[in-house]
Amino acid sequence: MTLTEKLFARASGKSNVNPGDNVWVKVDVLMTHDVCGPGTIGVFKREFGNNAKVWDRERVVIIPDHYIFTADSKSNRNVDILRDFVREQGIKYFYDVIDDPNGSWHFDPSKGQLKRQFGSNFAGVCHTALPAKGHTRPGEILLGTDSHTCMAGAFNQFATGIGNTDAGFVLGTGKLLLKVPETMRFHLVGELPKGVMAKDVILHVIGDIGFDGATYRAMQFDGPGAHALNMDDRMTIANMAIEAGGKNAIFEFDETTRAYVDERTKRNGTRAQYEPVEPDRDQKFIYDKTFDLSKLEPTVAKDPDPGQRALARECADIQLDRAYIGSCTGGKTSDFLAFARVVNGKRVKIDTFGVPATPDVVIELQTTLWEGKSVWSILESAGVLMTENASCAACLGGPADTFGRLNRPMNCITATNRNFPGRMGHKESKVFLASPYTVAASALTGHITDPREYLG
Ligand code: SF4
Repeated sequence: MTLTEKLFARASGKSNVNPGDNVWVKVDVLMTHDVCGPGTIGVFKREFGNNAKVWDRERVVIIPDHYIFTADSKSNRNVDILRDFVREQGIKYFYDVIDDPNGSWHFDPSKGQLKRQFGSNFAGVCHTALPAKGHTRPGEILLGTDSHTCMAGAFNQFATGIGNTDAGFVLGTGKLLLKVPETMRFHLVGELPKGVMAKDVILHVIGDIGFDGATYRAMQFDGPGAHALNMDDRMTIANMAIEAGGKNAIFEFDETTRAYVDERTKRNGTRAQYEPVEPDRDQKFIYDKTFDLSKLEPTVAKDPDPGQRALARECADIQLDRAYIGSCTGGKTSDFLAFARVVNGKRVKIDTFGVPATPDVVIELQTTLWEGKSVWSILESAGVLMTENASCAACLGGPADTFGRLNRPMNCITATNRNFPGRMGHKESKVFLASPYTVAASALTGHITDPREYLG
């Protein structure tokens, strides 16, 4: 069996499963957020009754992160609905925007978008917060009401996005009927060359198979090239499996995984026991291809979908109005450090927005010093509009007052993960996906730019 098949077999209590089998899977963690949480709660109450209790209050993780720093009252109210549910159910893991469990959330636009407006327990973007807060464990089943839940496949677990109806069912029962996907194997060899990041790897892969090339399939990344990647890089790759239609992404377990998970579960006091799945000798793949990372170049996905692959150096004629770094995919500390490496001591030429994925990223950027200056101040000195309000922000467009939203037709290069029309706001805007290096170099020139010339 492949890694994903082994996870399905274990979670369904069977000794063997095959692609296409429909099996009842026991869920280890269910995550929801402010956009889908209220709908999920509504389904749960409708189907199980107003007084029903969730199947396990320690396995439900609720992370408001999407439409948070907006004056839109309906968006603010969604956070309040989550808080009421958490209080009613005694749910243990709720990363609220405010500290008062009986309060209500109102974003105050008069304080501006840049300065922190959240309490001590807020965790930022769900997919980045889940591992950081110790909720991703090898060998487990993690379901979330968000398509990029597949990011947790970096941790050798089955993780996928589900709809509100399925999530409502999981809330009541702790299980779900799922079809075992076929597995595509992406065997990575070689080392990433200068100027090439994990984002380039996944943009290259999606360009190879198309934005529907992995529809309802598991994308298994293995080989020495995969083991050489750190967890942030693996997360970036796993995050975008859905951009090829993938059901999930999965990486093998190794010491890098163990060190990350053990540290985060210990720090947060979350469940520390887990059992990884190891690869079998007789894995059968529907697709099997080797990718030599040393041959890759800085890559871009052009408008209008993540499969429109081009090399950054071939796109120099594309003029830009905006650059954006942020999201679960591209808003990690390592992403900002890469970005800062390029813009350090220079000045961006176009509007450039920086949105850290989590409050911890804000702290790390503000406390990491390069020659006596914080990385945060280096980014600000380069002209990047940095907000402390970690969230999804303009990755998903959002209400009109969302930080960085494309409110008119424009060309934007971004470290986020999805570029279908209207994704970041105005439906006539064009969004180009790229690595933090490439976004940074392009911000400096105002057109799509190969970052290697800035990396010495
Ligand atoms: S940052 Fe973007 S991709 Fe990630 S969860 Fe938020 S909206 Fe989705």
